[in-house]
Amino acid sequence: MSDASSLTPTTKIQFLAGVGPQRAERLAKLGIYTLRDLLFFFPRDYEHPAAEVAIDRLKDGQAASVTGVITDAELSARSSGKSIFGAVVTNETGSVRIVFFNQPFRADTLTFERRVMISGVPTQKGLRMEFVHPKVKILREDEAAGAGEILPVYPLTDGFKQYDIRRYTREVLEQLARETTEVMPEDLRRAVVRRLRDASIDPGGIDHDGPLPPIDRALWQIHFPTDDRSLIAARTRFVSQELLVMQLALAMRRRSLTTDLNAPVIDASPETHAAILDRFGFTLTDDQRQVVQEIRHDLRRQFPMNRLLQGDVGSGKTAVAFYAMMLAHASSHQSVLMAPTEVLARQHYENLRHIHADNSDHIGLLSGSLGTAQRRDVLQRVADGRVTMLVGTQALLYDVKFQSLGVCVIDEQHKFGVRQRTALRGDDMDPHCLVMSATPIPRSIGMTLFGDVDMSTIRQKPPGRTEVHTYLAQDEWTQRWWQFVRQRLDEGRQVYVVAPRVGPATASAPSDPSNNDANADGCEDVASVETIYAQLRDDVLADFRVGLLHGRMKPDEKNATMEAFADGAIQVLVSTTVIEVGVDVPNATVMTILGANRFGLAQLHQLRGRINRGVHPGHVAVFTDGDVPPDEVERLKIFESTDDGFELAEADFRMRGPGDMLGKQQSGLPPLRVADLARDREILAVVRELAQDMIDGDPEMNDEALSDLRRQVLRRYGDRMELADGA
Ligand code: ADP
Ligand code: MG
Repeated sequence: MSDASSLTPTTKIQFLAGVGPQRAERLAKLGIYTLRDLLFFFPRDYEHPAAEVAIDRLKDGQAASVTGVITDAELSARSSGKSIFGAVVTNETGSVRIVFFNQPFRADTLTFERRVMISGVPTQKGLRMEFVHPKVKILREDEAAGAGEILPVYPLTDGFKQYDIRRYTREVLEQLARETTEVMPEDLRRAVVRRLRDASIDPGGIDHDGPLPPIDRALWQIHFPTDDRSLIAARTRFVSQELLVMQLALAMRRRSLTTDLNAPVIDASPETHAAILDRFGFTLTDDQRQVVQEIRHDLRRQFPMNRLLQGDVGSGKTAVAFYAMMLAHASSHQSVLMAPTEVLARQHYENLRHIHADNSDHIGLLSGSLGTAQRRDVLQRVADGRVTMLVGTQALLYDVKFQSLGVCVIDEQHKFGVRQRTALRGDDMDPHCLVMSATPIPRSIGMTLFGDVDMSTIRQKPPGRTEVHTYLAQDEWTQRWWQFVRQRLDEGRQVYVVAPRVGPATASAPSDPSNNDANADGCEDVASVETIYAQLRDDVLADFRVGLLHGRMKPDEKNATMEAFADGAIQVLVSTTVIEVGVDVPNATVMTILGANRFGLAQLHQLRGRINRGVHPGHVAVFTDGDVPPDEVERLKIFESTDDGFELAEADFRMRGPGDMLGKQQSGLPPLRVADLARDREILAVVRELAQDMIDGDPEMNDEALSDLRRQVLRRYGDRMELADGA
């Protein structure tokens, strides 16, 4: 066992007094290998001291604290080596008994006439209340009982009690807190507080114009806070630090993308700009105009645009993308548009040709249905520059040789925008890159996952869009709702019915990761499309032509069904969420969503987007199944109340956390340890701006005062973000 003076942050945990090799192995399961790891092993929660209660007001089973004087104390030892220590604590409101089993040492401190504060959960024993193994604080003669201590609660592993970890932590704090490297100089800590306050964020107990607490104080306060305000201040420090380190890395990466990569400068005269806009048969919305300006500005620079364009399906993203492609064409550069499906690729191609009806020879389509000779012809015309605008699905475009690729547009439809810049890199030039996504990303996710990407959003819908009415349905509406559905069908409209599951619960069919309708498989009493389909076809909507669609059907079956619906041969389509990405059917204006509580808001919103394609107003009724907890109802009410995809994404994120959003995505970023993107999103926004300002002023972080911070940035993010360590 080493003596305390030789402990360092890198000392193995096994050498801490009372740990040893066996316990060290168990601590390793918590990720604690060294003393430093323990210092940064933060509590998951805190125990606040129970309120002081008058003894005659104590209630059996209710936590309480009592301050008093010991008026009786007795240790009775048993022959077996076991012991009981009992004492009586008295104040002006009465007296209670306290008991400790097999802790004979208690007799040494809890002596006659000592003042103590005890806290715990009392039980009624005869006429008296009794505390078994209460927490005890011994008070000096004149000491006020005070509020008592706030105690840390750590995530635990087998064989440890909170008491053990608290003891270890306290020991290590005493030895090492003062020696821990401070990576945030005082000026920086002060700047963070100032910016947080400017953004109306409470940094906790910090003096006016004071800095965030320094590392040693923050470490003590996050483990053993003296009060709630100090705890918030300590937490704010660690959250800010963790997010700042990440945002500095992202800001450095943004910067390196601008200095290390070259892109063709695409500049267009105001006349060209106007001529391009003239080609659209409509006036751009304000949002579109704004994004067009952003893109125009990006393309003028000699490093690649790296922009994510978000907006609901139908918000007019593609029009903006076409603008970028046409601008490239006007400067004699090529562009490519990658669509997620053949159908969409063809649609984009047709639209481009329509816009260029006077001369569309320079527009090419690479589709899976081309014969070898045709395909070779297109590739040849791209290579020699005769085709300047190429459209295709992603898979087909990877090994295309361009003559001078200036702009690359990736339409990801319902995926999060994922950069694919390596795929289309030129030899010495990189194209400007625009990724379009119809899945709104909450701001704080965007600032991390896509921290090195510029983001544009279109929230406004082009004029003339029909409205969709959303109803959060009560069970007793069922009859009336289907009545309403029948009326719309009689008027000639078409109808979607969506349910979360394919078949009855028992069927554990192999799940196909490529279909996205496996949502609630395995849950009892969740509506399944097969059951609903049978009910509607045979009973409720027996007079109408009902079809079934789900992800387990063969691709050509699915296509045939979809086409039959598009033609009107099928009037009612019962489906899983596979219709999320589908063919537009403007005549479909009514949707019933069953088991809606099984879906995220973003997904519900996507589904609703299917029925605002035409001239008739849409109606969607949302039914739940099972007992729906209040917060789920709350979510669905938000869905009922707004049609804004971004608002919904933020609400989902606030209420359900990043969940699958981060899970589905290979973010490539190390997990955050202290900060929580949902809870700390406001701090994140502040810190992001600070990081950007810091890197703008000192791109390599050469400031001597920041050298430890810089080292931390590179240690944590350097490899993943390919940040060069110039040091
Ligand atoms: P997204 O790519 O976001 O799904 P699109 O760009 O394909 O949306 O636009 C959807 C439809 O709206 C298209 O038919 C398009 O021509 C039309 N559109 C786009 N912008 C406008 C506008 N400003 N005014 C009128 N119609 C528009
Ligand atoms: Mg689109």
